[in-house]
Amino acid sequence: MTKFRVAVIGAGPAGIYASDILMKNRGDLDVSIDLFDRLPTPYGLVRYGVAPDHPRIKGIINALRDVIDSGSIRFFGNVNFGTDITLEDMRQNYHAIIFTTGAMQDAKLNIPGIELDGSFGAADFVNWFDAHPDVPNTWPLTAKSVAVIGNGNVALDITRMLVKDPEELLETDIPEHVYQGLKDSALEEVHMFGRRGPTDVKFTPLELRELGEVNGVDMILDPADFEYTPEQQEAIAANKQLVVIDRIFRSWLTRENVGTAKRRIVFHFYSTPEEVLGEGGKVVGIRTSRKGEERNFEIQALYRAVGYFGSPLTDIPYDASRGIIANDGGRVLGGGVGEPEFIPDLYASGWIKRGPVGLIGATKSDALETIEHLLATQPELMKREVGDEDAIIQLLKDRGVTYTDAAGWARLDAHEISRGEQVGRPRIKVETREGMLNVAATEAKQ
Ligand SMILES: Cc1cc2nc3c(=O)[nH]c(=O)nc-3n(C[C@H](O)[C@H](O)[C@H](O)COP(=O)(O)OP(=O)(O)OC[C@H]3O[C@@H](n4cnc5c(N)ncnc54)[C@H](O)[C@@H]3O)c2cc1C
Repeated sequence: MTKFRVAVIGAGPAGIYASDILMKNRGDLDVSIDLFDRLPTPYGLVRYGVAPDHPRIKGIINALRDVIDSGSIRFFGNVNFGTDITLEDMRQNYHAIIFTTGAMQDAKLNIPGIELDGSFGAADFVNWFDAHPDVPNTWPLTAKSVAVIGNGNVALDITRMLVKDPEELLETDIPEHVYQGLKDSALEEVHMFGRRGPTDVKFTPLELRELGEVNGVDMILDPADFEYTPEQQEAIAANKQLVVIDRIFRSWLTRENVGTAKRRIVFHFYSTPEEVLGEGGKVVGIRTSRKGEERNFEIQALYRAVGYFGSPLTDIPYDASRGIIANDGGRVLGGGVGEPEFIPDLYASGWIKRGPVGLIGATKSDALETIEHLLATQPELMKREVGDEDAIIQLLKDRGVTYTDAAGWARLDAHEISRGEQVGRPRIKVETREGMLNVAATEAKQ
C-alpha cells in the first residue's frame, strides 16, 4: 500500500504538534512525515524566543523531543523553504504540505524617528539574548534610560532581561556573550509605555508577577491610573486574570522604600508614542501623548514590543494585512478567480496560520483543526503519485544542502548540555550555523 507522504515546513511547536497529532490520528493509514526547518535545530521560538530565565517553559521541549525521538518522523534541519526547497519540489515528493513557519519579524510601528540609531525591534534583542545563529553576538547596552513600547509578555521579557542582575541569570542557559554584555550595561531606568489603561494590558499574571520579583528594581506607577471607571471595574469583575493583574499592580503601589533600588521601571499607561526624538541620527528622547497632554522623556534607546509578524513564503498565498498564510481553519485559500476555494494539498498551523498571539499550548489546538481537514482530504490527495522516501534525500544531496537529521540534532543537543555541565549551567548553545553543523555531523567529543 502507498504511504501518505506529508511534509511539514517549520519545526517549532506548531510543526511538531501537527506531526504528532497526524501520527496519533492516522488510524490504519500508513503515514510518512518529513519535518523541515531552516535552522539546524528544532523547537523554533521555544529555543530562540522564550527568555533564558524561563526554564519551566523550556521543559515543554521534553514533550517536543519525544515526538522527534519517536522514530516515526524524519527531521531535516538547515533546509530553507523558498531557496533550498521549493513548492514544486514538495509537490513532487509529498501528497500534502503543512506550513508551520511561525512569525519571526517585528510588527512595524510607524512613527517619526523609529528608524533612528538606538531604536530596536524586540525580536532582534530576543534573538541576541537567545544566541540565534543568524544575528551578531554584540548588542549596544550603553543607554541609561530606555523606553519599552507595548504592554504584552514580550515587553515584559525585554524589560526583565534589561533590568535583571546578570549574576542571577548564570544558572540559566544564558550565552556567555549575553552575560558579559548585560554585566556592562549602563541601564538605570526603563519607561514602559502602553496606549491604554491597566485593565487593557495583554500581560499574563504569572509573567507580570515575575517582573515584580526581580531584585534591586523599584516599580513606579501613577496611583491616578488605578482610580477606575465603572466600566473598568466591571471588566475586572468579569475576568479572573484581570483581578490578579490588578492585585499585582496595587501591591507595587503600596511597596515601601521605593527610590532606593539601583534600577527602576516606570509604567506609563494611556500613553501613545508620537515621535522618537533624535540628534545626530541617534535616539535622545521620546514624545508621547497622554490623554491629550504631550510629554517628552529623555531616553537613549527604545525597544518596540508591539507584536511579531509572519513573513510571506515563495508561491504560497499570503495575507499581507495580517502577516499570515491566507487560510480558513488551516486550509490554504486559493483566492484567484476561477481557482478552487482551497488548495487541497496545502495547509497551515501555528502562528503563520493564526497570527502571532497565544502561548505554546495554543499551537496544539491549532494543529488538531488543521489535521482534521488534512485527513478529510487524504483519499483524494493520495491519487497523485509522489517520490519515495529516498527521493528527497537525493534531491538535497544533488543541491549540496547540508542538513541535520534527528541523530545529528541529538548529538548537538548532548554536546550543548555537556558544555553546560562543565560550568554548572543547563546548556551552552553552539552559536554559529557552521559550528552546529560540525557538531551534528560528528560524534561530540569532550
Ligand atoms: C519573545 C517571545 C517569548 C515567548 N515566551 C513564551 C513563553 O514564555 N511561554 C509560552 O508558552 N509561549 C511563549 N511565546 C510564544 C511561543 O513562542 C509561540 O506560541 C510558539 O513558538 C509558536 O509556534 P510556531 O511553531 O507557530 O512558530 P515558531 O516557534 O516560530 O516556529 C516556526 C519554525 O519555522 C521555521 N521556519 C520559518 N521559516 C522557514 C522556512 N522558510 N523554511 C523552513 N523553516 C522555516 C523557523 O526556523 C522556526 O523553527 C513567546 C514568544 C516570543 C516571541
